Amino acid sequence: MCEHSFDDVQTWFANLKEQYTTQLEKKIAQIEAIWARWQSGELQTDDLRELQRIAHNLAGSGATFGLAAVSDAARALDVALQPVIRRADTDEAAVSLASLVENLLDVMRNSGAPVPQPLSRGQPAAATTLIYLAGRNQDETEELARQIAYFGYTTAQFRSSAELLAAVERQMPNVLILDLDLQEGEQSGIAAAAFLHDRYGQALPMFFTASSSDFTLRLAAVRAGGRGYFTRPIDVGLLIDQIDQMTQRVNTEPYTVLIVDDSALMAEVYALALRAAGMRVVTTTDPLEAPMLLAEQPPDLILLDVYMPGCNGQELAAVIRQQPEYHSIPIVFLSGETDRSAQLAALAQGGDDFLTKPINLEHLVAAISSRIQRARAMRSLMVRDSLTGLFNHSVTQDLLIREVARARRSNQPLSVALIDIDHFKRVNDQYGHRSGDRVLKSLARLLRQRLRASDLIGRYGGEEFLIVMPETRAASAAMVVDSLRERFAHIEHQCEGAPLRVTFSAGVAEWAHGIEASGLIEKADAALYQAKRLGRNQVLIADAQIGQPPQHRVLPLTTNRLHNAPVILVVDDDPDIGRLLQLWLTDAGYRVELTQNGLEALQRIEQGGVDVALIDILMPEISGIDLLDQVRQRGREPAVIITTAFGSEQIAVNAIRRGANDYLRKPINQQELLLVLERTLTKLRLRRENAALQRRLDEKRRELEAEIKHAAQIQAEMLPQQMPRLPEYTIAARCIPAREIGGDFYDWNAPVSHLLNITFGDVMGKGMSAALLMTTTRAVFRSVARDTPPEVNIRYAVNALYADLERTSSFVTLCHLQLNLNSHTLAFVDAGHGLGFIRRHSGHCERLEPRGAPIGIFSHESYRQGETVLNPGDALILFSDGLLDPWPMLARDPFQINDLLTDGMTATGIVDRLCAIPALLGPLTDDLTVFALVRNMMPEESI
Ligand code: GH3
Ligand code: MG
Ligand code: MG
Repeated sequence: MCEHSFDDVQTWFANLKEQYTTQLEKKIAQIEAIWARWQSGELQTDDLRELQRIAHNLAGSGATFGLAAVSDAARALDVALQPVIRRADTDEAAVSLASLVENLLDVMRNSGAPVPQPLSRGQPAAATTLIYLAGRNQDETEELARQIAYFGYTTAQFRSSAELLAAVERQMPNVLILDLDLQEGEQSGIAAAAFLHDRYGQALPMFFTASSSDFTLRLAAVRAGGRGYFTRPIDVGLLIDQIDQMTQRVNTEPYTVLIVDDSALMAEVYALALRAAGMRVVTTTDPLEAPMLLAEQPPDLILLDVYMPGCNGQELAAVIRQQPEYHSIPIVFLSGETDRSAQLAALAQGGDDFLTKPINLEHLVAAISSRIQRARAMRSLMVRDSLTGLFNHSVTQDLLIREVARARRSNQPLSVALIDIDHFKRVNDQYGHRSGDRVLKSLARLLRQRLRASDLIGRYGGEEFLIVMPETRAASAAMVVDSLRERFAHIEHQCEGAPLRVTFSAGVAEWAHGIEASGLIEKADAALYQAKRLGRNQVLIADAQIGQPPQHRVLPLTTNRLHNAPVILVVDDDPDIGRLLQLWLTDAGYRVELTQNGLEALQRIEQGGVDVALIDILMPEISGIDLLDQVRQRGREPAVIITTAFGSEQIAVNAIRRGANDYLRKPINQQELLLVLERTLTKLRLRRENAALQRRLDEKRRELEAEIKHAAQIQAEMLPQQMPRLPEYTIAARCIPAREIGGDFYDWNAPVSHLLNITFGDVMGKGMSAALLMTTTRAVFRSVARDTPPEVNIRYAVNALYADLERTSSFVTLCHLQLNLNSHTLAFVDAGHGLGFIRRHSGHCERLEPRGAPIGIFSHESYRQGETVLNPGDALILFSDGLLDPWPMLARDPFQINDLLTDGMTATGIVDRLCAIPALLGPLTDDLTVFALVRNMMPEESI
C-alpha cells in the first residue's frame, strides 16, 4: 500500500517486463511440447485445455507489456480452440489449428524485448488544490480568481493558449477554468481544451466560462471535454460546488482498489499503474482471501479477474454482492473473455463493468477513476432524504455535532427544534400514504423557504424534522418555529380532492455548556413530548417555566428514529463501549437506545417496543444476569444478547440457560456483533410469526367452537321438544351428545289421530359429519312416515337415502315404529339397530325381531316388519350405542338393563335411570340417546 514516485514505478515496470520475457520463453517450450505430442498422435486428455489456458493468458497479458502481436496470435488460437475442446475432436482440429499454433510460436520467438508502454502520471498528489484560470479578458479572469481564492483554493491565471499549455506541462492543476476565448482569438479556448483533453483525458477536469449561452458553443465545449459551462455573470457559489465535487478526492481520501487476480504478475502490473495515479491498491492472488481483505478495509472498487482457480470471478462477485455492506462497491471484471454473453453473465452476478484484456493501462486508470468517482457521488446523494430533499437522519446528526462543537468554541448560542406532525397516522390511514408523503413534502418546502440559509434542516425520522439554528437563543427560535406552525396549520393540503389541514407540535431546546448533541435533542424531544401531551399544535421550550417542566422520557437518548427498524437497547455501564456499539448499530440501520444502568433498562423494557437488549454482565447495582432474570420473570419479550468480558464458556452457558438468546465475548468485533444480532432478530421474527400464527389458530379455534356450539343448539332444537300427550301411555326421550353435536336422534309424528310414528336412529361416526347425516335422515323419515305401515315407510326412506349414503360410504342404524292407539299394536322395522327390547309387565323381556341391515349397506334390502301388542304395564325401551362403552355386555345381552328397572316405572323414570348409567359405570364417549314408551297400568277411558 506504499506509494511510489513516478520514476520508481517506471523502473519496477521495466523489471516486471524482464520477468515477463523469461516467462515467455518457458511458455514457448510448453507449447512446443504439446505441439510435438499432437503431431505424433500422443495427445493427452488435458493437453488441449492446457494449450488453451496458455493462449488465453498470453492474449490477456501480451499487449500490456507492449507485445500486441503476441496477444493477437494467442487470441486467435484461444478462440479457435474453444469449439474443438467442446467437441473433443482432435483430428479435425490438428489441420485447422496447426497454422495458428505455428504462427503464435513464431510471433513469440521473434517478439524481442517488450516495448515500454507509457504510464499515466495521473493526478498531482498536492496538498493544496491548484486551479488554473485562462481568459482573454484579464480583469474578468482576475476577479474570478479572487472569488475562488476566498474558498481556499490556490489559483494561477493565463491569457493565451501557449502560456496555458506550457504551464500544464510543467505542473498539472487540479482544475482548469478557461474562457471560450483566449488571446489567440475567438473560441481558441475550445481548441486548447480539446488538445489538453486528448492529452490528459479525465485527469484534467475543465470548466468553461462564456458570455453567450448559445447551444452550438455549449456543444463545442462538451466535445472539447468541458465538465461545466458557466455564463456571465458567473454564479461563483455554483462553480465552487462543482469544483468541490471535482476535487473531492484530492481533499479527501485517495481512491482505494482491491485487485483479485490469480496471476501475481498481472495483479502487480495493474497495481503499479493505479498507484502511479495516486490510488491505494491491495492485491491478492487468492480469491478466497478477498472476503477477509474486504472486511479489513472496504475499498472504493474491486477489480476481479474472471478465470481463477478455486473460485472464479463471477462466484466471488456473487458472494460479495450477498453482503449488504458491500452493495455500493463497484465491481469491475477484467478478463480475456471477448464473448459478449459470457461478459453479460458475469455482469449479471453483480459486476458493474467489464474490461477486456489486454487492457491499455491508461484506459484502466481512466475507467477505474470514473467508476469510483461515480460511486462516491452516489454515496453523497445518500446525504439527502429522497422524499423531502432535506438532510437525512445521520447527516443531520453529524451536522448537529459539528454545530455543538462550534458553539462550544465560539461561545455563541445554538438552538434546535424538533418538529413532529400531529396525528399523522390518521392522515395516512384516511387519505393514504401518498397523501401523507405530500404533506411531508409541503412541510419540508415551507421549512426551506422560511428559515435562514444558515439554519440546517433535516428529516430526523418518519414525520419528524430537526432544525438546527446557530447563533439563536431558544426564545427567538421558538418564535420562528411558532410562526411556521401557524403558517403550516393554515395550509390546505389537497388530499384526494378534499382539502385537509394538518398541524405540528415542536420542542425547542437551547444548548448550554456541558450538553452534547444527543443531550440537546433529548431536551427538545422532552419538550415536544410535553407539547403533545398538552394538546398538540403548539411549540414548547425545554426547561422553560411554562406549566410543569417538561417530563423526560425514561431513556435519555433515542438516536435513530427510522421507523420500522428494529430497536436495540444497549445496556453497558462503560460509556465508551456503549457509544461504540451505538455507532456501529446506528450505522447498520438499527434504532439504538443506550443506557448505563440496569434498572433504567428494565423500566425501558417494561414500556415495550425493544426488540433486542444487548446486556453487559458486569454492571453495578444490578448485574446483567439479574436483569435477564427480571426480564424473563416478567415475561417480557425482547431477545437478550449477553456481552461479557470473561472468556468463560460457563458464564455464557449459564446466561443462555436463564433465557439469553445469544452471547458476545468482549472485545466485541463489529462483524460478529452484526452477525449475532441478525441471527437473533431472525429468530425473534420467527418467534413473533409463530406467536401471530398461534393467535390466528386460537382465533380460528374459537370461531369453530362458537360455530359448533351454534350447530349443537340448532340440532338440539330439532329434536321434538314436547312429549306427545297420549291416552294410556307415557313417553320420554333424551339425548346427551358426547360432543356438542352428534348423530343420534329421535322423532315422532301422528299422521292420523290413532297412529304415532316413532323413529329412533343412530348414524355412523361422530361430530359434524354425523350431524349432517342425521339431519338428512331425520328429514327423509319426516316426509315418508305416513299412515302406511313401517315396512312401506322404510322402503321409501331407503330409496331416498341410499345413493347419498353409498356415495359417502356411510350408514345409518335405526328403528322405525308405529303405535296404533286403538289396537295397541306396535309395528316396527329394525334396520341394524338392535339396541332395545320390550319389557312386559311380568318382567319378561323380548327383542324386537326380525332385524335387518343398517340403511346404506345393501341397496335392495327388504325390511321385514315385526308386530306386537302392548298391554298395560308393558314398556318399550330403546337406547343408542353410547351405552356400550360404559357397559359393553349390553351389545350381546341388552336385557341386562332389566336389572335396573322395577315394576310400575314411568317412561321418564326409565329414561332417567338409563341416562345415569355412564355416571355410575364409566365415561360417556359417544352420544347417548334413550327412549321409553310405557302403557299405563290403569287405563283411562278410551275414546
Ligand atoms: P402524534 O400526534 O402523537 O405524533 O401522532 P402521530 O400519529 O403523528 O404519531 P405516530 O408516531 O404514532 O405515527 C407517525 C406516523 O407517521 C406513522 C407512520 O406510518 C407515518 N410515517 C412515517 N414516515 C412516513 C413517510 O415517509 N410517509 C408517510 N406517508 N407516512 C410516514
Ligand atoms: Mg412521531
Ligand atoms: Mg406525529
